[in-house]
Amino acid sequence: MRSVSELRKDIVSGDWVVIATGRKRRPHDFAVNKKHTSTKAQRVLCPFEKLHGEASYVILKNGETHQPSAKNTLLLEKEWAVQVIPNKYPAFGHGRCAVVFNQGPYQLQDGAGFHDVVVTREHDRPLALMSVSNIFSVLYAYRHRYQQLKDDDCVKYVSIFHNHGAEAGASITHPHSQIVAIPVVPPEVERSIKGSDRYFAKEKKCVHCVMIAFELKEKKRLVYENDDFVVFAPFASRTAFEVRIFPKKHSPMFEAIHNDQIKSFADTIKEALSKLYTGLGNPSYNFFIHTSPAFYVKTFEHYHWHLEIIPKTAIWAGFELGTDINISTITPEAAAAFLRTL
Ligand SMILES: [Zn+2]
Ligand SMILES: [Zn+2]
Repeated sequence: MRSVSELRKDIVSGDWVVIATGRKRRPHDFAVNKKHTSTKAQRVLCPFEKLHGEASYVILKNGETHQPSAKNTLLLEKEWAVQVIPNKYPAFGHGRCAVVFNQGPYQLQDGAGFHDVVVTREHDRPLALMSVSNIFSVLYAYRHRYQQLKDDDCVKYVSIFHNHGAEAGASITHPHSQIVAIPVVPPEVERSIKGSDRYFAKEKKCVHCVMIAFELKEKKRLVYENDDFVVFAPFASRTAFEVRIFPKKHSPMFEAIHNDQIKSFADTIKEALSKLYTGLGNPSYNFFIHTSPAFYVKTFEHYHWHLEIIPKTAIWAGFELGTDINISTITPEAAAAFLRTL
């Protein structure tokens, strides 16, 4: 069986890229299509309105969790609040893992892994407008699926992310997050881990803990905090209104989060997203979790997992793409001060 995608290694930078052809097959499909569908039509055509036949995990409105079976279908159909389903157009799927092939001077491997979607029930209710308990269920589903996927031998990293709005790449308006398990460590995460290790070797401290302590003390870039988590605009923000959420207590692994912490985490996500929703008028945004790679034997004790929210306040153009240097048009101090007032 052919794999759904392949990973190709850039011979110069050493970074992997994915060639996934499942969604767009023919070159002419890439022509820019400006056709817009009305909100009403989107809803009628929405693939996420019902309980999916292949849902692997369901959380009900009352918080109960279920593995779907022939026996509980009726209950789940009526009461589902969150469902985890396989992506119809996966970027990663079946394939041989950890086998690298050569093609002339190049290297490639199968895009072996998993690609799931976490869907919430209401079509018109983005995360920013959800209750904290509903966001709790979404995070609970993230952790549940993460713990299953990291045990797979092929999986080196599990990426959890959420796209909101067309400008942020959400092709379906119905709120949903994605969980992609991949057979390589992403370059961005590898760079962060190396940076954290470098800082620790020199200072004998976690660089993220140092940053969190300073932000909590200085308060200039602080957006919100509760007992367990802190939300702030990073000192070197890559884009206007970038915000990050960190657990206050040092922890390298997202999946080690316990239920009380999930509650606090949900509270900070609700605060951060609703401040951006109010302050910027429901902007498109991406958020993702950065956490340690999923290895059995190796731990990444100097890494500190967190969530990054990047509102689409600007388009990354030639300079950004050509230099990997991003331009933010407001200081993080001014952005945080504005968000604190909301
Ligand atoms: Zn929908
Ligand atoms: Zn730390």
